[in-house]
Amino acid sequence: MRKLEKKIALITGASSGIGKAMAIAFAREGALSIVVDIHEQGVKDVVDAIVSEGNNAWAEVCDVGQALEVRQTVARVIAEFGAIDILVNNAGIMDDFMPAADVEVQQWHHVMNVNLHGAYYFCHEILPAMVERGKGNILNISSVGGIQGSRAGAAYTAAKHGLIGLTKNIAFMYVGKGIRCNAIAPGGVNTNIGAGMHPNAFGYERMMTGMATMPRMAAPEEIAAAALFLVSDDGSFVNGEVLVADGGWTAY
Ligand code: NAP
Repeated sequence: MRKLEKKIALITGASSGIGKAMAIAFAREGALSIVVDIHEQGVKDVVDAIVSEGNNAWAEVCDVGQALEVRQTVARVIAEFGAIDILVNNAGIMDDFMPAADVEVQQWHHVMNVNLHGAYYFCHEILPAMVERGKGNILNISSVGGIQGSRAGAAYTAAKHGLIGLTKNIAFMYVGKGIRCNAIAPGGVNTNIGAGMHPNAFGYERMMTGMATMPRMAAPEEIAAAALFLVSDDGSFVNGEVLVADGGWTAY
């Protein structure tokens, strides 16, 4: 028996990197992966790749930072498939390593909107249906920047810390409703997240002081393997936890 047989798993930011690896890995374990991203061609390509392996996937284009789009996406998926068993809030963007004095209001809000508010929007829309069914599983992709102070700029660091707070609050609030909520805090992972960045020189220099202690970069599939543990019954007694997957970087 595969680990996610007949589960419906919605993964945001799933046309690239860690999200794509999770969508593929979950579908290989029997889930229907709902591939959500802002990139229309990207979600189609990931769905095609999953279906070409003989597994199940569905494409949804959605900007996670837009509450209305999130509401419409969740409604469409529930109307089409009846339920969402697993929600992975993975969509995220970097912040150019902007320190607090330099980050402009617009960039602050954009990073918060995608990295934190988007997760709240999806949880807010999906939780009532999970409560009604008496089961559900939520996984938030935070970062080592969500537990330490200088892995990124001010906005990313604050958003990823906030995501861990949201994770623990949901985990405890809904513990009697059959719902688990956990987070993963990855270290460096080889993805497209750094493409197009314009690093702030001071913020980048401060961030780099800790980089020598990073053992190596991960492949996205290594984070997907940790995610599979948390969203499957293998992790049945794990709730409100932050699983650090960083190769030992923060152990220093
Ligand atoms: P990625 O390769 O850039 O994938 C993220 C995907 O989300 C991209 O397709 C991205 O599109 C999309 N996205 C951005 N804004 C969105 C929005 N508003 N609505 C829907 N989708 C949106 O990045 P990744 O490295 O796999 O990151 C996945 C998660 O892991 C993020 O939350 C990130 O913070 C976290 N993480 C990553 C690392 C790392 O080293 N890679 C480390 C720790 C934590 P665009 O390409 O247009 O932005």
